Amino acid sequence: MIIALNNKCNLTKEEFLTYMTKLNEIQSKHTIILCPSFTNINLYSSNSIHLGAQNVSSYEEGAYTGEISAKQLKKLGVEYCIVGHSERRIYQKETNTDIKYKITHLLQENIRPILCIGESKEERESKMADKVILQELESALSDLKKEDLNKIIIAYEPIWAIGTGFIPNNDEIEEMFSIIKQKYPDNPVLYGGSVNQNNIEELKKISSIDGYLLGGLSLKINELQTFVNRL
Ligand code: PEP
Repeated sequence: MIIALNNKCNLTKEEFLTYMTKLNEIQSKHTIILCPSFTNINLYSSNSIHLGAQNVSSYEEGAYTGEISAKQLKKLGVEYCIVGHSERRIYQKETNTDIKYKITHLLQENIRPILCIGESKEERESKMADKVILQELESALSDLKKEDLNKIIIAYEPIWAIGTGFIPNNDEIEEMFSIIKQKYPDNPVLYGGSVNQNNIEELKKISSIDGYLLGGLSLKINELQTFVNRL
């Protein structure tokens, strides 16, 4: 299984150093990917946990103040990068076109994109969820060569489940995973949205889930260890 940890905009330098030490004590046979804030990437140190980023510039390089390029990430040892997280789509107004450019630059540097897709509550209620995620996938991935497509990790994260404590039921998750896997059978698909050490027992019944993207839980080391033990 792949377990991606999204620290979001949390942990100062000192807090991160303590966190990193504790995270390295977690025992797991699974692939754990830590995506810290940009300011903490250079402080990462681990023999067992992989390094990811939370975002990348849609530009290759140049006069783009505040942006960080795929090439810069690569030189810091980044192997994976989240793209299209709903928080960026909503707050930074990131478009499917931006996301497509980001994926192109990441693949050029051989960094594996973790592409986030997911519907809002309104879209689910109006039975548009499948159309929304297929459109997000199609616009991000349609032009990729097969060998590049195979490097993409997909993260299905219903927007209404992120950080809310609400989670779809297993039938709803299975339905969305089956839609994704019919079109992208060779890509790992993660579930994300309010996953914790309690609901993992129920989620484990879904055999099509290849891993999890964890936000809030990534910051709670003790609960994270319990979660990993239950996988
Ligand atoms: C996320 O932001 O990708 C996420 C899954 O957050 P949380 O686990 O806090 O819902």
